[in-house]
Parts: sequence; structure tokens; C-alpha cells
Amino acid sequence: MSEVALLDSVITFLAKPLGSFIDGRPALDEQAGVSEIINPANEQVIARVQDATAVQVDAAVAAASRAFKGSWAQTSPYLRGVLLNKLADAIEQHGEELAQLEALNSGKAINVARGLEVAQSVVFLRYFAGWTTKINGESITPSLPSMAGEQYTAFTRREPVGVVAGIVPWNFPLLIAVWKLGSALATGCTIVLKPSEFSPLSLLRLVELATEVGIPDGAINVVTGAGKVGQWLTEHGEVRKVSFTGSVPTGIAVGAAAMKSKLTRVTLELGGKNPAALLADVNIDDVVPGLVMTAFTHQGQICASPERIYVHRSRIDELEQKLGAALAGLKIGSPLDESVQFGPLANKAHYQKIASYFERMGDGQVVVTGGRTVGDKGYFVEPTLLRASSPDDLFLTEETFGPIVCLLAFDSDEELIELLNDTPYGLGASLWTNDLSKALRMIPRIESGTVWVNMHTFLDPAVPFGGSKSSGIGREFGSAFIEAFTELKSVMIRY
Ligand code: ADP
Repeated sequence: MSEVALLDSVITFLAKPLGSFIDGRPALDEQAGVSEIINPANEQVIARVQDATAVQVDAAVAAASRAFKGSWAQTSPYLRGVLLNKLADAIEQHGEELAQLEALNSGKAINVARGLEVAQSVVFLRYFAGWTTKINGESITPSLPSMAGEQYTAFTRREPVGVVAGIVPWNFPLLIAVWKLGSALATGCTIVLKPSEFSPLSLLRLVELATEVGIPDGAINVVTGAGKVGQWLTEHGEVRKVSFTGSVPTGIAVGAAAMKSKLTRVTLELGGKNPAALLADVNIDDVVPGLVMTAFTHQGQICASPERIYVHRSRIDELEQKLGAALAGLKIGSPLDESVQFGPLANKAHYQKIASYFERMGDGQVVVTGGRTVGDKGYFVEPTLLRASSPDDLFLTEETFGPIVCLLAFDSDEELIELLNDTPYGLGASLWTNDLSKALRMIPRIESGTVWVNMHTFLDPAVPFGGSKSSGIGREFGSAFIEAFTELKSVMIRY
């Protein structure tokens, strides 16, 4: 099948001078450094984006601060919801444009860009829009005895924390930015977003749309560039909260820097080494499509994707054979080809990391399928399935963040619980079984922010999401995000 034709609007956007977007307009600076944005499918430069300077980071925080105290504070909760819904409408209207930018910039298969990244951005934004009118404190009856006829009453207010820094990784640049800006704007905060230096394009288009639909200038700002820019933001004295999604080492550095700055609030959504467990009763034919989807969508570059699969010994040969065959049948190719299921890795550094893992394979594991890079142009690799013989195997312990899944047999439920928890991480885990009674007994014993049953990496805006152990601090979505983006103020009155 041939590639989809690029829209004129995409071609025009890519040719523009791009850079930070501050106070409702592009903030370009002739003196700024420029990063080349690479299409991972063919290694060609598709756009040039200026790196933000320290002065621009200050300007972005100042604009967000003005909007926080001014225009956004004066926008009623009802109107905030209307505006977030208008932005969701705009994402729908420009859905193909945003999906093409995503496919070009991060190598996401166009159907995944349309059906997951863009479609879910709309769903999540509408969910956050619904919260704007429902953020309240509570009224409290004080407990102490009153003095000489006095009365006391008390209530709490949920007040927006202030200017938020949203630091976004390269895997889902649009959707993760929407999580952060939706949470911030719904609670009355304003935000400065920093996309990954590898994949800033779809967010830079989104922020233009935000201005077009009438979101006040300064409520959403974007500063572009590498880690240094994120560090300036994290350490900025006027930033009251950092919402970070990314790797564990960077997350720990960001958390420490934020605390050291001014006890800046922080939510960290980090990586993991997520397990899936197939109990003895599963129907392997039912499970295989779900595992392929959850572990190999966007080439496995999803923080909650399973990388280790524990399978009851009685079923592991069948799973190995059927999952291996399904992976070998995936169509690898250009993300702009609608029949392709598996595009390139998102950037060169990550490709080199996965290639180095390929070189370390075969020492202790059986390579069931995959394990090689593909072609000599673009960052393509094969979806890869390994089978290990020891729980200490490198591929059962180190996060690859790529399309590499490793199987291990288990014999008893007790052994399985130990294997699931034998990791410093705890983002997501899944149980695959028809025995729901057994699953319900195991769930409290699994150390993980989310446990899925007969599904995995299924993110719903109504269900809190985040990591336990080294996979993060705090929760996004549900009502849990409100706590993270507001301060609780207590008011006590004597009368
Ligand atoms: P990955 O390796 O998946 O890109 P990182 O955790 O390194 O993940 O990056 C996630 C985001 O954090 C990116 O936007 C990156 O530029 C940013 N970043 C990197 N280093 C820092 C830092 N020291 N402070 C703040 N942000 C950073």
C-alpha cells in the first residue's frame, strides 16, 4: 500500500520557523540555537526548531504567572470547561494534520497516531473539561468545645497551585501534553510545557490551536529544547508544581531539584519493567492479540507496556509458538503507510540503545523471533520475543523501553507473586485468567500502581494512573489529579 499524501497544512507548518510559544504567540529569537527534527523512518530533517533561551524560559513563566493571576483566574469554571471542549473540538477538526505530524516526527504508525494519540487526546481533554465545575472543598464542624457561647465553623477550599511546569517525553508528545495542560487548566492553574527535543511538533501545532479557540494568552506556553530547558523550568522560583513524565533517572533528578528549589510540588510518572502473568487456565488464542497490541504498539515505547511475561509452565510452549508467529507476521514499514503495524523507533539514540540490547541477546535467553535491526535507512528493528531460563535475566530486569518481550515459566502462584514483585519498579502489571476469584486474591499482593486483568496498558481518564516504588510519585486522571494540582486551604470562623 502507498503512503498517505501529506496535507498542505502539514507541509506549510513544517516549513515555518518554529520555536517556543509564549503568551499566545511564537517567540522566535535569531540568536537562539536550532535543533533539527528528524523523521525516524528516513533520517531526513523535517523541521528546524529553535531552542529556548533562559530569558525565554523566564518570559514563559512570567506569562503563565500573569495569566494565572489575571485572565485565567477571571475565567469562570464553566467557561474554562467550554474552552477546553473547544480545544478538543479543534483537535478533532485538525486530527489528520496532528496525526501526520506525529507519524512524521515520532514514527508512530498513522493508524496509531489517529486512533490512539489524537483520538485519546480528545477524550482526555473532554474528561478534564467536565471537572472544571466540580472542584470543591468541604464544610467541617470543628471538634473542640466552644467557649462561652461562641460558635465555630470551618470549610476547606481547593485552590490552584499556580504555574505548572509540564515536562513531556518523546513517546506520546500530544497526548501526554494534553494530560498535563488539561489537569492544569481544569484546576485553574496555568502551564509552561516543555516537549522532548526529539518530538516537539504536534504540541507546537496544538498550542496554536489553543490560541485560535480563545484560550487566554499565557495560560498555555511551550518552551522548546533539551534537558537544560527542563532544568531551568524545574528550578524556576515562580513554578509551583512540576508534572514530569519520563525516565527513572531523569525523574529522580527532577524530583530532587524541585524539592530543593522551593519545595516545589512534583508528580513523577516514570518507567518500569512491567509484568504480565498468564495463569494456567488462559486460552492462548484469546490472549495473543492482546499481548501483541499492548507490548508492541508504537514499537513498545510505552511506559506501561509489559516487557516481562510470566507464563504457567504448562502453557509456555504454546504461547511461545503462537506469540512468536504473530510477531513475525507484523508488517514493518513507513508510519505513513496505513497497512503498516510497526514503524521505526522514535530516535537515533533509542535505536542505538535497542541495537546494543540485540548484541547482548542469546547469552542465557532463546531468541524466539526478532533480534535484528531492519534495513539501512531509518530506525527500524524487529519485534522481538525471548525466552529466559532465570528470573535474574537481563531482559527480565532492565527496562528496554522497546519492542523486546521476555518470557519465563512459573510453577506456583506463590512463585508468581514473588516474580511479579521482584523489581524496584511498580507502574503496571496484568493478570490474564478466567479465574477472577484467584485474580481478586492476588491483586492486593501485587506491588503496582495499576493491576489490569485480561487487559494491559488500558488508560482511562476516569481511572487514576501512576507508579508505586521507583515508578513515580502521585497519580494522574480520575479525581486524583485534583489533589496534585491544588492546595487545600482551611478556613476557620468564630461567630
Ligand atoms: P527519555 O530518555 O525517555 O527521553 P528523559 O527522562 O531523559 O526520557 O526525558 C524526558 C523529558 O525530560 C524530556 O522532555 C527531556 O528533555 C526532559 N529532561 C531531561 N533532563 C532533564 C532535567 N535534568 N531536568 C528537567 N527535564 C529534563
